[in-house]
Amino acid sequence: METKTGKIKFMACTVGISFILLLKKSFCYSIFTKMNEVEKVVIVGSGCAGLTAAIYTSRAALLPLVIGGPQPGGQLTMTNEVENFPGFPNGINGFELMANMRLQAEHFGTRFVDDEVKDVDFGKGMKKIICERNTYLSQTVIVATGASPKLLGVKGEKEFFGGKGVSICATCDGAFYRGKDVAVVGGGDTACEEALFLTNFCAKVYLIHRRDTLRASKPMEKRTLANGKIIPLWDSIVDEIIGPEKVSGIRVENVKNKSKTEIACSGVFIAIGHTPNSQQFAKYLHLDDDGYFHRKEDSFVETNVGGVFVAGDCADKTYRQAITSAGTGAMAAILAEKYICKKI
Ligand SMILES: Cc1cc2nc3c(=O)[nH]c(=O)nc-3n(C[C@H](O)[C@H](O)[C@H](O)COP(=O)(O)OP(=O)(O)OC[C@H]3O[C@@H](n4cnc5c(N)ncnc54)[C@H](O)[C@@H]3O)c2cc1C
Repeated sequence: METKTGKIKFMACTVGISFILLLKKSFCYSIFTKMNEVEKVVIVGSGCAGLTAAIYTSRAALLPLVIGGPQPGGQLTMTNEVENFPGFPNGINGFELMANMRLQAEHFGTRFVDDEVKDVDFGKGMKKIICERNTYLSQTVIVATGASPKLLGVKGEKEFFGGKGVSICATCDGAFYRGKDVAVVGGGDTACEEALFLTNFCAKVYLIHRRDTLRASKPMEKRTLANGKIIPLWDSIVDEIIGPEKVSGIRVENVKNKSKTEIACSGVFIAIGHTPNSQQFAKYLHLDDDGYFHRKEDSFVETNVGGVFVAGDCADKTYRQAITSAGTGAMAAILAEKYICKKI
């Protein structure tokens, strides 16, 4: 009798344990597979660089996942008129251009998530992208996070930004100010380059700088100060950008004697630098002194980590244009595909 009960107990135990193991296995399996849903390509950023990379990688059947970030569509969504992107003889609204790029990427199978990268793990194994809402694993990553222009934070700046007279890019907007007077704010190489470029169109270019000498390199300083159209306003800061509908002038304050002067002008170009959005990746990717991603020698998009590529303004302090960003987005996509196929 005791032997029979023992046998039954033993069988019940065996069945119970097997059942638990089975359950555990399927539980582990579901966790395991969820954690191991590995993407082929994750693209961080949905500006010109990210969306171009998305078009290329989705056409290569890699089913990319784009993490859109805090500014879906990127910087170009802030401008009404883009006149230098090829293919649009009458120009195109920046928002519309980016919406079209997204549609084109979606058409080929790109998936988008509304999330923001907070941290990454590019150590051994799959690349881990840790976002506000989710964590993603991927074989390759294309970082296209852009560089945010630094702004002055003065009255009128936000109100007239992007099409109403305040600009951060002379190459983009200079041609809109043909024959007019404009002001450039800043004293480094970029400010001098912007001012010199604007002399091609504008009648007068006021160069407003908070110190009494430029920070630019000597040859640049020499060229700038030798140009008769450029009028430096030393020891000066912008107090307010004046409207009402569009920019009609600026009020500058002399930092030494505190006097304020109004200057009539139609455009204000802010050239006090950019902040590349790179800090979340800094543990793994090399950055240069200004925080831009450092690229491997002889490469436009390869980083110090195999399978991680950079594209667009976040790795480019020279050009910072929609078309150059799109160009490096395409390069990063082509190399990501090669990396996956073990061709590099
Ligand atoms: C007002 C204005 C007008 C301009 N006009 C012109 C023009 O006429 N012609 C021209 O060629 N260029 C113009 N530019 C410059 C052009 O917009 C940029 O060169 C171009 O947008 C850069 O593209 P990008 O993809 O590298 O970066 P961005 O467009 O800056 O896009 C960066 C993307 O990264 C995302 N991102 C950032 N951080 C994170 C994160 N932590 N996690 C996830 N995603 C993140 C953002 O959400 C964004 O989608 C203009 C710029 C401005 C601001």
